[in-house]
Amino acid sequence: MKYFFIAGLSIICNLNVIAQSKNTTAQKNNQTNIVAAKPKLVVGIVIDQMRWDYLYRFQPLFASNGGFKRMMNDGFNCNNTMIPYTPTVTACGHTCVYTGSVPNIHGITGNNWWDKNANREMYCTEDKSESGIGNAKGDAGKMSPRNMLVTTIGDELRLATNFESRVVGIAFKDRGAILPAGHSANAAYWYDRGTGEFISSTFYMNALPNWVSDFNARKIVDSFYRVGWQTKLDKSVYKQYCTDDVKEYEYKAFGKDALGFPYNNLAQFINKDYNKIISTPHGDKIMIELAKTTLLNEKLGMNKATDMLTVSFSTPDYIGHNFGPNSWELLDAYVRLDEELGKFFDFLDAQYGKGSYTSFLTADHAVAHIPAFMQEHKLPGGVFDDKAAEKEMNAELLRQFGASHLIVSSSNFQISFNHHKIDSMNLDKEKIFDWVIKYLKSRNEVMNAFELDELMEQPMNKTVREMLANGYHQSRSGDIQYILKPGFIDGMKTGTTHGLWNPYDAHIPLLWYGWGIKKGSTHRETYMTDIAATLAAILKIQMPSGCVGKVITEVIQ
Ligand SMILES: [Zn+2]
Repeated sequence: MKYFFIAGLSIICNLNVIAQSKNTTAQKNNQTNIVAAKPKLVVGIVIDQMRWDYLYRFQPLFASNGGFKRMMNDGFNCNNTMIPYTPTVTACGHTCVYTGSVPNIHGITGNNWWDKNANREMYCTEDKSESGIGNAKGDAGKMSPRNMLVTTIGDELRLATNFESRVVGIAFKDRGAILPAGHSANAAYWYDRGTGEFISSTFYMNALPNWVSDFNARKIVDSFYRVGWQTKLDKSVYKQYCTDDVKEYEYKAFGKDALGFPYNNLAQFINKDYNKIISTPHGDKIMIELAKTTLLNEKLGMNKATDMLTVSFSTPDYIGHNFGPNSWELLDAYVRLDEELGKFFDFLDAQYGKGSYTSFLTADHAVAHIPAFMQEHKLPGGVFDDKAAEKEMNAELLRQFGASHLIVSSSNFQISFNHHKIDSMNLDKEKIFDWVIKYLKSRNEVMNAFELDELMEQPMNKTVREMLANGYHQSRSGDIQYILKPGFIDGMKTGTTHGLWNPYDAHIPLLWYGWGIKKGSTHRETYMTDIAATLAAILKIQMPSGCVGKVITEVIQ
């Protein structure tokens, strides 16, 4: 702990010196050139799993100089921003935000998908032709954005400036760093849960920069494990806003004996388990420290051309999955994140000058309430155990057709079949499909099931149909789609998740702030795909190659 404070203090002192000298330059610039022709820097912020309603549910708890109120009061708030496709998951979300495109075009159809051409499951950013850079364990570094079939706004910024603009992506999740930064990014850094260090891949570089190695050597994760996680506010606040601290339907993220606050026993994970830190709000603090360190060492926003940093906060997703939207843990994490984002904007103001950088904040998807919490309050909802259903269906298909494991995947609410087996054994494909559809429709949790090839002939709401069509890619989607009833999730009895079309999964925050941004708000329906289109307009550069979004003209000064 002491070590961390001393190391941290010296860095903060150094930063202050740089910040002060920059500050005078920034002030001078502001005096001579009131409105610059372009921002020095674009900072894209994605809060993994943030629901739009958190902005208002927790508004009384957010600080006036915190991140959320600053963006809402001094920037532009698009209150009704929707995700226009399914599945509403991390990889698709990060790709859509930065490409303005949908899975039908950009090809990222899930975090994982069954690839019909390769006849195997694929991870969104996997790339076995690349190796890890830094202290990377196993496949953690074998990553690239090559599965993404279109350019990002960062790629377009690089193209527009003859590659003078510098673009870097950072996140705990590999996909949260790699997909936003794009193909021509200068670097992407993500967290290896096996080693507790930030790494990269040979796609970007041949060696980890010294400053990243130095950052890792600070062992910040260990320091935060020693701190543990205690409530920040008075207990009465949590009681007012949330369920009881300990609920049997919450996932015991820190071990079966760690039932609720305070979580004082996290030091036990030092050198043993570097995955646990991502279920604490300390992950956000580490991400902001890494963001500042990245800006200074990669010298972003200090060049002639506009640079770009993409930051994804992965921690809120894990906290949300484990404890749910009505938990003490989630409230505590957002109050802390608000404070940290406020300090981050203070840093950016001091470093670059207020109003000389453009920032936006959004989410890659939102989340459903924990179904047992819904049931507790007589609200509709439940759990569909998709893995158990897959097992049951495969057992019955074996009995009927004499072939094992005909279903190879049930991810992304889609059933994929082993077509090689069906063809080589000369099985009746339509009969197999019909039986599976009948089975799924007979399940109480399922609203509808049908062959994806027949999506356009299905009688269904046009918004849902359009979202499914936008999410469909011919070689990277399944054969049969199923849709759960509202309030139902796939997975386990504890915790919650996201992924379908419903507003609780698809309604996301979208805040704009800084250079080129008007003050104001709108309730007009806008879409996740509009973010990249609007950024392109602000920066006066071409839209990304698969962009289908529209410019949100109200945002632009
Ligand atoms: Zn998630």
